[in-house]
Amino acid sequence: MQTYYGDFHVHLGRSADGRPIKITAAKGLTLAAALREGQQRKGLDLVGIVDAACPPVLADLEGLLQRGELEELSGGGFRFHGGLVFLAGAEVETEEQRGPAHFLAFFPTLEALRAFSRRLSRWVTNPNLSSQHCRCRADDMLEEVVALEGIFLPAHAFTPHKGLFGQGVDDVAEAFTDRQLARIPAMELGLSADTALADRIPGLGGFTFLSNSDAHSLPKIAREYNALELAEANFREWAMALRRQEGRRVAANYGLDPRLGKYHRSACPVCELIVDRPAPYFGPCARCGAPQLTPGVLDRIEWLARYGNGSMRHSGGCFPAGAAPSGNTAVDTSSDSYFLPSSVQRPPYIHQVPLEFLPGVGPKAMQKLLDCFGTEMNLLHRATDEEIAAAAGPKLAKTLLAHRRGEIAWIDGGGGRFGRVEVR
Ligand SMILES: [Zn+2]
Ligand SMILES: [Zn+2]
Repeated sequence: MQTYYGDFHVHLGRSADGRPIKITAAKGLTLAAALREGQQRKGLDLVGIVDAACPPVLADLEGLLQRGELEELSGGGFRFHGGLVFLAGAEVETEEQRGPAHFLAFFPTLEALRAFSRRLSRWVTNPNLSSQHCRCRADDMLEEVVALEGIFLPAHAFTPHKGLFGQGVDDVAEAFTDRQLARIPAMELGLSADTALADRIPGLGGFTFLSNSDAHSLPKIAREYNALELAEANFREWAMALRRQEGRRVAANYGLDPRLGKYHRSACPVCELIVDRPAPYFGPCARCGAPQLTPGVLDRIEWLARYGNGSMRHSGGCFPAGAAPSGNTAVDTSSDSYFLPSSVQRPPYIHQVPLEFLPGVGPKAMQKLLDCFGTEMNLLHRATDEEIAAAAGPKLAKTLLAHRRGEIAWIDGGGGRFGRVEVR
């Protein structure tokens, strides 16, 4: 087995011919640009693009294949310029009982992606744009994806805006049958949650946790990512890792400290106060009296851990803070039970402040560091303290090394505003 780094939630702003794909994403973010950034600057081995089912992106993908810049792999997925492996997927929005929820769907082949793209056009008003609202339920969508041998999983599961738990349901059993749940191998944590927080909710042991960037611009790619152990990089191996089969696994999650996430704590939509009292707290606002706050991920998770009871029947009990319910053994997807023995541990979740969050790391400093170390993965994982000190100059090196040692102070995020760090 070998270690591969992957980020499986990257958006595109435009097609190669300039048509909008995701309005809120950067204009320079085309398929080829995202793949180049992932490979050359970030140093990733795998990238999941979640707007690949939009017809203009599909056309770009076909163009790259024709020009020999992409190659379809026999194990599924596409290889870019002989290196990075690209997994083609879609972010979809379904209608759940209480509100809309976002999911990611990935497909092994160009043929399956084309078939899904055609089906998607039945459910959405404008299939050329990404993450459009689908007039269907998640369980129907799951069946469609699985029929195409795809992988289907909840995106940013706990965020107040369109996370399955954040907005859609109190319990996965409200959206899926046990048999369907057995076919959902993973769940994306989102920027405001980590493994310890998510495992406060009982019954999630069967889901492998993914930490992805949800990047809407090039620099944001790999602000969260995963280390995977695979025999080689392709779709089939990746799916096996999510299902924890035959030694393939997610070996570590790298992500923001949840306190930095935009929706970590409840926050006032009127006066923007971010709550600092114990979670769960949803209002009223201590400053202006607004009755209802935008729920924070921490507050929502604490509420579900204490008062949500639906999941108990899956897991047989509650887990104390930080205790991992389960880990890396194979999921028997043929059985109706998707829960794992509680003795196995989750992979570590390694808190990492993305370089752009660090005071003093502007575009110029970043370029200087990249000139030195090649990629961000090299700087973060492979460079020695001495090499960083030599390359960065005393002031920046102090910040980078403090980050490495975790000597950093936090200011909570909430209500759509990121948290901040200060070097102590
Ligand atoms: Zn997204
Ligand atoms: Zn207020």
